[in-house]
Amino acid sequence: MINFVGAGPGAVDLISLRGKTLIEKADVIIYAGSLVNPGLLEFAKEGAEIYDSARMTLEEVLDVMKAAHDAGKEVVRLHTGDQSIYGAIREQMDALDKLGIAYDSCPGITAACAAASSLDLEFTLPDISQTLIITRMEGRTPVPEKERIESLAAHQASMAVYLSAGMLDKLSQRLIAGGYMADTPAAIVYKASWPEEEKYICTVGSLADTAREHNIKKTAMILVGDVIGCSDYSRSKLYDPSFETGFRAVGTGDGSLCSLEFMNTENRPLYPSPVPTLIRAVCFSDKGAAVLQRLIKAAGEKGIEAPKAYYSFNTGDAPEGFERVSGSLKDWAEEGFKDNATLIFTGAMGIAVRTIAPFIKDKLSDSAVIVIDDNGNNVIPILSGHAGGANKSAVILAELLNAQPVITTSSDINDAFSADVFAAEKRLKIRNRDGIKKVSAKAIEGKAISLSIKDYPPKEPVDIIVADETDREYSLLLSPKKYILGMGMKKDTPLEKIEEFALKVLSDASVGIDDIYAIATIDIKENEPGLKAFSKKYRIPVISFEAELLNKVSGDFASSDFVKKTTGTDNVCERAAVLCGGGGELLVHKTAGGGITAAVAIRRM
Ligand code: SAH
Repeated sequence: MINFVGAGPGAVDLISLRGKTLIEKADVIIYAGSLVNPGLLEFAKEGAEIYDSARMTLEEVLDVMKAAHDAGKEVVRLHTGDQSIYGAIREQMDALDKLGIAYDSCPGITAACAAASSLDLEFTLPDISQTLIITRMEGRTPVPEKERIESLAAHQASMAVYLSAGMLDKLSQRLIAGGYMADTPAAIVYKASWPEEEKYICTVGSLADTAREHNIKKTAMILVGDVIGCSDYSRSKLYDPSFETGFRAVGTGDGSLCSLEFMNTENRPLYPSPVPTLIRAVCFSDKGAAVLQRLIKAAGEKGIEAPKAYYSFNTGDAPEGFERVSGSLKDWAEEGFKDNATLIFTGAMGIAVRTIAPFIKDKLSDSAVIVIDDNGNNVIPILSGHAGGANKSAVILAELLNAQPVITTSSDINDAFSADVFAAEKRLKIRNRDGIKKVSAKAIEGKAISLSIKDYPPKEPVDIIVADETDREYSLLLSPKKYILGMGMKKDTPLEKIEEFALKVLSDASVGIDDIYAIATIDIKENEPGLKAFSKKYRIPVISFEAELLNKVSGDFASSDFVKKTTGTDNVCERAAVLCGGGGELLVHKTAGGGITAAVAIRRM
């Protein structure tokens, strides 16, 4: 008899009892030496023949099995994890069928489960994901076209990616092209359950950098999905006392409505925002400067982007690395509001309030403003707590300074759902502003908020509907942003030029900047300062792709030899926009001017 046995992920005591007994009884053991822990062989009886399949062909493995079978010996074929996942067992079983040799299979713990255990992770959190996708990037073994990472990513389910640790740049690009936000949480678990295990939580966008930083190239499990580090889920129905199983269905309605429970900002995981705004901080005294210095140092240690620091006082020695506010403080604030920067005032709140007063216009578009006292004890968001993210930023700043965030917004202090935060975080366009107030007021009263995606029947009134248009009655209509702006530009093109050109292209096409889901470009332009500032000003993320991937996009694109020579692809803006839009059509073809190119693609949704 040949026994296929799952050895588990690595740790010797993670094999099943049955698997261990089979090893103990085996006369011949063929094990996958590259990943199976050799410690398992210590369970073998004395005199057992041991073969490492890493050095053998399929034919050689079969020869050993046949000879052992003919001699009436018991064989264990030991596979890493569980043999049904990337175990190449079918070909062995088919050959054994032909030879008329009987076999059996004993399951093992697969690497995805071991990695989840290392992270104390539940793949299936209610309301977040109820599906786990197991997949891989293609290597020597091709992956069928219908299972491209892009199409799997469209489900936004929990994902375990095997055999791909050496291709993480491409993996993230594809996950993002498929619809994951770059800031979707992800994790890398190297050699789960082995003594040398390493684990890192990162984001879809930072997978490759994280692996490079820790020199991880293989034997790692990549996990992706909002379930990682998530605290915003509904509790399990299974263990809920109000849940009745069996005889009577306890429905939550028609399935199209769900009630949302949101934690307050403190309970949220602190992921770097996909589009941080420009952050500028000003201080008015040596004490204030010391607080900012402390903040910048702590941000550096945590890998968070630190504010650009300014000072506005007369001093013998300027604080190191700080820039003097050259004109009046009002001009400084006006400039900040123009760039949609987050402004931090380190000092008395009165100074901040008087300075920004003339520039406050609109709850949904004003800059975020935060005050920190001169001792660095309190961090107080005073403007744009929700849409501008000041509350969230204040919590992060307070954590860095070991200070108290002083939050005054009703929904936050009451742990209630807030419609404008929801729209901003999901990057949805607010279609009726009055709806924000209505929904948020209901949430503050502690009532459940119903949400419907698209025009899912039945047609009863709903609090929030996410759709382009609808016949349903609603309080708040949020629409998915429809377009991707593809861009290319010469090195060091300033923000003003990029902004002017992009806005002109969009307005000629009657597309609002608030309908742009992302700016797409080639990886070598991702860090262009002008493009970054443009992205931060309008809070639209930049998503970039390697030339190699851009070349694979099919369509009728303008082609330039010069661009090809300098970037490796004949067209950046159209290809990047189409790729980022999930293969959608071009609404605006390549338009060029002043060393900048732009194109607009319609997102495929
Ligand atoms: N049958 C195995 C998978 C074999 S494919 C199973 O069920 O686990 C080999 C891939 O599995 C590796 O590239 C890596 O992605 C993953 N893997 C195997 N052991 C692992 C471990 N201990 N930790 C993390 N990933 C592991």
